This record gives sequence, C-alpha cells and structure tokens, in this order.
Amino acid sequence: MSQECIFCKIIAGDIPAKLLYEDDDVLAFNDISPVAPTHILVIPRKHIIGPAALTEADQALTGKLVQVGTDLAAQTGLTEGFRLVINDGKSAGQTVFHLHLHVLGGRVMTWPPG
Ligand code: 5GP
Ligand code: ZN
Repeated sequence: MSQECIFCKIIAGDIPAKLLYEDDDVLAFNDISPVAPTHILVIPRKHIIGPAALTEADQALTGKLVQVGTDLAAQTGLTEGFRLVINDGKSAGQTVFHLHLHVLGGRVMTWPPG
C-alpha cells in the first residue's frame, strides 16, 4: 500500500467506489470520469506502479486482470466489441501510478488511439 495512491485508498475503503467485482487479488469499479458508455477499471490489490514494474512473479496476476476485464465486458453486454487498455508513463497518458486495466465499450472505437 502506498499512502498517497488513490487506488490504494479505494482498496482500503478510504475513497468510496461501487465495486463491480472483487476477490483476493483484484477489484473492479467504474471510472470516475468515463470516456465511453462503459468504462471500468480493474486493478490489483498489490501496489504496482505500472506494467513496466511487473515481474515474472506477477504473471498470473496480470492474466487475471485481463480475464476479469473480459468477463466484466461480457457481463456488461459488450457483444459488439470492447477495448482493454493499460497506460504506462506520462507520455502514454498514465495519471494514476497504480497498475490498472481500462475496459472500454459501448461505442465505436477509433484507431490509432490519440
Ligand atoms: P490512467 O490515465 O492513469 O490510465 O487512468 C486513470 C483513471 O483513473 C482515469 O481514467 C481517471 O478518470 C480514473 N480515476 C482517477 N481518480 C479516480 C477515483 O478517485 N475514482 C475512480 N473511480 N476513478 C478514478
Ligand atoms: Zn496503489
């Protein structure tokens, strides 16, 4: 846990978030500032700064983030498609330095992303 980390505070219950999913390893909740009709964040309970900080020991956890994100996309009814995004670093648009998977859907996505 990092004292200044917004997502660690959500995990601790110090910042409210309506959880869509939780288990011993990960939790999921709606993004506070959605950029698509469905915008869910899936985060590990473990404070990992971002994908560049992942180690071999985190492989199962990383797979779980993708699995939970994909399951939530199905449960939310995103049958026409969805996008999973993980930003790393300021240039990529990362603003919260606790690893998180964005699940985006409910509208047509363009490529390349901005
Ligand atoms: P990033 O830009 O780091 O990839 O994504 C961080 C995301 O966290 C942003 O989409 C932002 O809207 C979201 N976010 C930041 N603070 C909070 C918060 O307190 N609660 C929730 N639910 N989402 C947050
Ligand atoms: Zn954190």
